[in-house]
Amino acid sequence: MAENKTSERAAVSKAVDAVVVGAGFGGLYMTHRLRQAGLSVQGIEAGYDVGGTWFWNRYPGARCDIPSLLYSYTFDDGLRDEWRWSEKYAPQPEILAYANHVANRFDLRPNYLFETKVIRMAFDEVKQRWLVETDRGDRIEARWVVTATGCLSQPKAVDIQGADSFEGESYSTSRWPHGSIDFTGKRVAMIGTGSSAIQSTPLIAEHAAKVTVFQRTPNFSLPAKNRELTDQEIAEFMAGYPAYKEALATGSPGIPLPPEGWAPSEAELRQAAEHLWSGDGLLSLAVLPNLTRDERVNKIGADYVRAKIKEIVKDPELADKLTPKDFPLGTKRACVDTDYYATFNRDNVELVDLRETPLVEVNATGVKTTGAQYDVDVIVYATGFDAMTGALLNMDIRGRQGRALREAWADGPKTLLGLQIAGFPNLFTVTGPGSPSVLSNMITSCEQHVDWIMGAIEHMRKSGKSTMEPKPEAQEAWVRHVNEQADQTLFPKANSWYMGANVPGKPRVFMPYVGEGYKVRCDEVAAKGYEGFELA
Ligand code: NAP
Repeated sequence: MAENKTSERAAVSKAVDAVVVGAGFGGLYMTHRLRQAGLSVQGIEAGYDVGGTWFWNRYPGARCDIPSLLYSYTFDDGLRDEWRWSEKYAPQPEILAYANHVANRFDLRPNYLFETKVIRMAFDEVKQRWLVETDRGDRIEARWVVTATGCLSQPKAVDIQGADSFEGESYSTSRWPHGSIDFTGKRVAMIGTGSSAIQSTPLIAEHAAKVTVFQRTPNFSLPAKNRELTDQEIAEFMAGYPAYKEALATGSPGIPLPPEGWAPSEAELRQAAEHLWSGDGLLSLAVLPNLTRDERVNKIGADYVRAKIKEIVKDPELADKLTPKDFPLGTKRACVDTDYYATFNRDNVELVDLRETPLVEVNATGVKTTGAQYDVDVIVYATGFDAMTGALLNMDIRGRQGRALREAWADGPKTLLGLQIAGFPNLFTVTGPGSPSVLSNMITSCEQHVDWIMGAIEHMRKSGKSTMEPKPEAQEAWVRHVNEQADQTLFPKANSWYMGANVPGKPRVFMPYVGEGYKVRCDEVAAKGYEGFELA
């Protein structure tokens, strides 16, 4: 498994300007920018190579759910011109190759310690430095720490009784082994029906003797209609590139939106909903104005997907079980699939509805529900992540007076703009909770945060300030604003990982920022000398 350490090395003890945690798209770009500014940087990454989420999630069918032409860095025109995506939604190996290409092109690997996990970091108020400690015994002092640890990187612990007692093979989609797994002729249990399961089930079913999908909550999934990208499409995208970049710079999400002020009739909404099946995936949700705010609009979109499920799945009873009914469309992250619903028309695919017959345990031979025992050869856990806060809280982060982040966030995450935390000076969080993060194009948001953080660091250097952190009252106001924005939407109606609802005991707080004008606000804050932040 990739998690085993493959290399020996001596512990590192040194002082640098900045530590960057993570070598995914956020961390790589942060390291590049810091180095460009002439600062010394130590990157730390748990995987043995770069790629972040694309390093770990190697399950069959893993691919992006935002078109690849958009799921790309924009900071370097040379990089843009030399990289060609092969498909509309690139598969995981190609996205990982892109991350590798970036690491090579900008020579970023020498800055990283791989196969190394940060276990603790503490702010020394006398030295005004962070001491970062790792599971390899490294001790690194740094003026700034930037966490680029990803929003969906800490797998949720498997909370099923008896999981360890299974005597067959078991895999987790989020820690998939390197190299291929042969499912030929095997009986496979798939636990979960989120994006990871929805992408992998159809491909596993092509080889397995049987796939039994254990579903607790049915999900809305939109067809990817994935295909090869044509030269003409790429040329058209490139022709529109200056406008796209301009839109990003002025804070537009860079995706098609309904015309402003459009007040569609019911019939117009129904027509717009047809776009959900266009293959534009998550972007297609944006054609329905106020989808996650207006129940009437949401019902039209949701009913459209429900009708499609009924049309695709031949067995009406099965179609009904696969149909989401108890949360609004888009309030749990919608999935983008290739043949997911149609897979249930196969003779070798079976659905077990855990709402009818709850899961009792995993045992030596398979999975037991209140209805039956399902003996299998392989169990695939696609059970999700401790999202947005898990990776941060997994490190023991200590701010002023030794206060633990775990304590500061006991009632849910609190940040200013998702970028910094009061009491944790000079610590920056790329796509942290309280920023749009998972509701946006992640790579675009990573770039926006890295640019902002770099601006803040440059500002501190120029103005001779040694520390920067949110003023508590500004942070409180932002947290209130984030909550108020979420409360005006339908998001709190779903038991989603956005709300922390998938992890037992996690505070129920809507973590991403759902309001508008986020980038403009960040830019204004910077222009006003980092309003709301204490620079000492
Ligand atoms: P997820 O959406 O959280 O789905 C986890 C699934 O496991 C859910 O169906 C959940 O049921 C089920 N589950 C969890 N614990 C269970 C238990 N003890 N017993 C039975 N079922 C259980 O996780 P994910 O599929 O890994 O996706 C997470 C996020 O990662 C996505 O929403 C997306 O943002 C991202 N992602 C993106 C892509 C992509 O297309 N690029 C691919 C994969 C993932 P409940 O819903 O009832 O809790």
